[in-house]
Amino acid sequence: MAKIGIIGAGIKGLTTAYKQELLGNEVFLFEQSDRVGGALVSKQHDSGYLTEDGAHTLLLNSSELERFIHSFDSLKSSFIESNPLTKNRFILKNNNLYPIQPTPTSVLTSKLLPIKSRLKIISEIFKKPKIRDTDLSLKDFFIEHFGEAFTDYLINPFIAGTYAGQPKYLSTENTFPSLLNYERQYGSILKGLIRNKSSFKNKIISFQSGLSELPIAIAAKLTNKPILESQILDISKENNGWKMCIKSKELPSSDWYFDELYCTLPAFKISQLPFADCIKKDCPKFESIDHPPVSVLSVGYHKSEIQHPLNGFGYLIPEVENKKHLGGLFTSKIFPNRAPENHELLTFFIGGSRSPESASSDTDKLIYELAPSLSKILGINSKPRFIYQRFWGQSIPQYNLGHSQFLNRITDFEKKYENFFFVGNYKQGISLSQSIL
Ligand SMILES: Cc1cc2nc3c(=O)[nH]c(=O)nc-3n(C[C@H](O)[C@H](O)[C@H](O)COP(=O)(O)OP(=O)(O)OC[C@H]3O[C@@H](n4cnc5c(N)ncnc54)[C@H](O)[C@@H]3O)c2cc1C
Repeated sequence: MAKIGIIGAGIKGLTTAYKQELLGNEVFLFEQSDRVGGALVSKQHDSGYLTEDGAHTLLLNSSELERFIHSFDSLKSSFIESNPLTKNRFILKNNNLYPIQPTPTSVLTSKLLPIKSRLKIISEIFKKPKIRDTDLSLKDFFIEHFGEAFTDYLINPFIAGTYAGQPKYLSTENTFPSLLNYERQYGSILKGLIRNKSSFKNKIISFQSGLSELPIAIAAKLTNKPILESQILDISKENNGWKMCIKSKELPSSDWYFDELYCTLPAFKISQLPFADCIKKDCPKFESIDHPPVSVLSVGYHKSEIQHPLNGFGYLIPEVENKKHLGGLFTSKIFPNRAPENHELLTFFIGGSRSPESASSDTDKLIYELAPSLSKILGINSKPRFIYQRFWGQSIPQYNLGHSQFLNRITDFEKKYENFFFVGNYKQGISLSQSIL
């Protein structure tokens, strides 16, 4: 049995701890704050609204992930699937919302794209296999395969809604490696998607009290409870293992010895870790990974104050439409218990790498700037009855061009300093599904 130390009790730290326990190891998890869950923060407000600070949905995209969730009794009974009426996503064009679903038929039949662009998409199926010797941006990759209109009106808003990023900066190799594989194997991405269609039917889920239920359920199953409000004072190599000097609210400062250490902190926190000087000099410059700021603004209205039927998941805005916000979720349509009766909860995302200066901790300013768009897009002309905001000064890691070289530096560090592992959303994928498995 190995003794494992894990730094950080976000979803990555908790799932790493859980898996290590299943392997029969003894695990100790150290968390700086007074709660587990990290970026997963669900809040039930007295007014009856239920908000999320960060992630709003978890994509169940494999039976393995589904089994994992169902292995927690408390989650099984609290599991909620998104309302089937929210299958449509909307894309904004000229202040009109165009419904679209993530299927080739929906894209090809939607009036969002001009006929010429739709023909270009169909002709992609004839592309010949291609091996590239250099990475390229998502923007260049998608323009080459499906043309500019597709990239501007589908890929650009999709990347804003997932990475809070821009396709012109992101690396194809790191964000969608499977698409490069399809290109190598079939030439056509469409062909690759059709031939590799999973038999698993994806589900978008959350829990009755929000996504925070997930980290709480995992923490409750661990043999050694996460040590909260802990402060790591020193990290150094000790023979084949590692030594950490740690103090917490309940424990005086003392030395702990581990066979293996896992760092699950967000990249922008890693440079603050107190590595011994000789190790620090070899540590990759994690602070160089961009995490653009994002404001997550939750607002509530009486149903009668919204003219749009909100008959979908929400909407995304292509950059070419020049709006201050990236898009909005029809949150209480996706999960009806998020708003009191006869009210709706909407969530807007502002900032990202497209417009970092628009994100702000000043809620009044955000509401003021958003008002004209809400009037035009959703027919909302009154002040919200409920307002809650979370400003993320650093949100989601951007896998920009050159990210592979950065990952190589992490591998070099892990080779040199055996039994130390960096795991986090800058490496295994940004989504919760990727963080869990
Ligand atoms: C605005 C926003 C919206 C998102 N929406 C979605 C979505 O809808 N769906 C989806 O799948 N994903 C979404 N994501 C991404 C997803 O939420 C994150 O990738 C994931 O939660 C990150 O988990 P983590 O454990 O890697 O990091 P974190 O959640 O950041 O956890 C790290 C933990 O380390 C702790 N810590 C920090 N410093 C120290 C230290 N020195 N010592 C000990 N502990 C420390 C922190 O307190 C924290 O608890 C979203 C993210 C954001 C920001």
